[in-house]
Amino acid sequence: MAHDGAASPDDGKHDNASSVRQRKNPILTGDSKAVIVNGGHIVFSELGMEVDKKLDTHQSWEFGGPPGVTAMIFGFPVLMYYLWICLSFYGGQMAHPESVDDIVPFLGRMWEHVKQDAAPTPYAFAIYTGLMAIQLLLAFIMPGYQQEGLPVPSLKYKTLMYNCNALASWYATLIIAAALHLTGTWRLTEIIDNFGSLMTVSMIWANVVSIYMYVSTVVRGEQIRMSGNTIYDFFMGACLNPRIGSVDLKMWAEVRIPWVLLFLIAVSGSCKQYDTFGYVTPNMAFMVLATGLYINACAKGEECIPQTWDMFHEKWGWMIIFWNFSGVPFTYCYSIVYMAANDPKKYEFSTPIYIALYTTLLCAYYVFDSSMSQKSRFRMQMQGTYKYRWTFPQLPWGTLTNPQYIQTEHGNRLLISGWWRFARKPNYSADWIQSLTWGLCIGAASPIPYFYPLFFLAVLTHRCGRDFERCELKYGKDWDKYCSIVRWRFIPGIY
Ligand code: NDP
Repeated sequence: MAHDGAASPDDGKHDNASSVRQRKNPILTGDSKAVIVNGGHIVFSELGMEVDKKLDTHQSWEFGGPPGVTAMIFGFPVLMYYLWICLSFYGGQMAHPESVDDIVPFLGRMWEHVKQDAAPTPYAFAIYTGLMAIQLLLAFIMPGYQQEGLPVPSLKYKTLMYNCNALASWYATLIIAAALHLTGTWRLTEIIDNFGSLMTVSMIWANVVSIYMYVSTVVRGEQIRMSGNTIYDFFMGACLNPRIGSVDLKMWAEVRIPWVLLFLIAVSGSCKQYDTFGYVTPNMAFMVLATGLYINACAKGEECIPQTWDMFHEKWGWMIIFWNFSGVPFTYCYSIVYMAANDPKKYEFSTPIYIALYTTLLCAYYVFDSSMSQKSRFRMQMQGTYKYRWTFPQLPWGTLTNPQYIQTEHGNRLLISGWWRFARKPNYSADWIQSLTWGLCIGAASPIPYFYPLFFLAVLTHRCGRDFERCELKYGKDWDKYCSIVRWRFIPGIY
């Protein structure tokens, strides 16, 4: 492939710093003053480091600034309660006041549901806190794969080591959950039976951890990219790389709580369905498969997570903490909650539709998994930290040989091979299609499970805008060149 300005490394071998500088390259010239880190694999120009410094200061208000984030901090929990009430007490339909005069009584009825069915009981505290404690303990004790992260500009381009033991912890969690359920010690149906209370407990934990992290980071003076507005900084977070010993809390919370709990909710829903109807519907089995694939992907490819935006850019603030502890597990599961409580006849499909649904999920999953691993492994290759790691399953085309890329003046390289030659966010498109199938699996029985794909569409388009804005600032004309080579954002030929 011969793109102007594009380059390609030797297959499987990595350049040393001098060969990078000597390579015929329209951007890095002989005069370019560069710094070499990590054994000579990544070269940051002085200009690149200046830009990185700028990007580590507050640039502009995101999410509507202080008023926008205040609305989210208070609005998300209210929305979650409302949707859960509609699912659990109104047959999955949108509840609303019958008239203007009914507005106050309607709010009273909603509050009664929260008080009676979502109170933070000691039992719910024990379940949720128990899950957190087990996951944290496993993170400390299970054997892991050591992965070096990306150079962190705010740490003078130091790289952090990540102990990737999510896979061993995930397998251990499966064994513990199966043992508890099958011996009758603690039945998994307890999760779906205590859904409201568990959701409230998750919100409490999210707020406690967010406040603690914000205050402790500021007290230690380790905050970065602060705006000076307390509520905004609390929402965005203060610290970039929170750690306790070998455990990176941000990475731990991103995988071990939301996706593990979501999978357990799916299994809990299946057990409940089995207890109630005597069988598990293909729709419910679909959600067990879908959530199982997702957590397994996060765990088996955990070494790819340090290369994602959440890890290298986002701080550990309310936005991420709340969404990991509460938002993901308790909103992405709406189709499961619906199916666990409603007659399967309401969402029965014909066999061809089931085949189409499962096939769509598996195809989207394949693109999601392989595109994420192509980019992450490319970045590891460029950094010289890539080692082959076998985990189950390894899909074809997950690692690119001889990938094409654009060498930027900043020093970083932008991949233009594999899925990444067709669109700038192939991973987002595939991930979104997965989310759509999570709603489609109950058809038109209830609109509420479509919250996830709708919300996720907003998240991904907004995140894509933020990311592209940042990349434009970071890479300047090289970003324009990249966009002219990879023209489409999400779907080639469409958008
Ligand atoms: P990306 O994986 O797209 O990472 C974006 C960053 O990657 C950019 O800032 C840039 O960083 C670098 N980059 C972009 N294009 C290239 C390229 N062509 N070559 C090399 N580097 C490139 O996004 P995220 O980290 O946001 O998402 C990771 C996954 O997580 C996605 O699949 C997403 O769907 C999923 N996700 C799921 C959520 C959920 O709730 N289900 C929520 C959020 C994300 P740099 O500046 O270093 O070059």
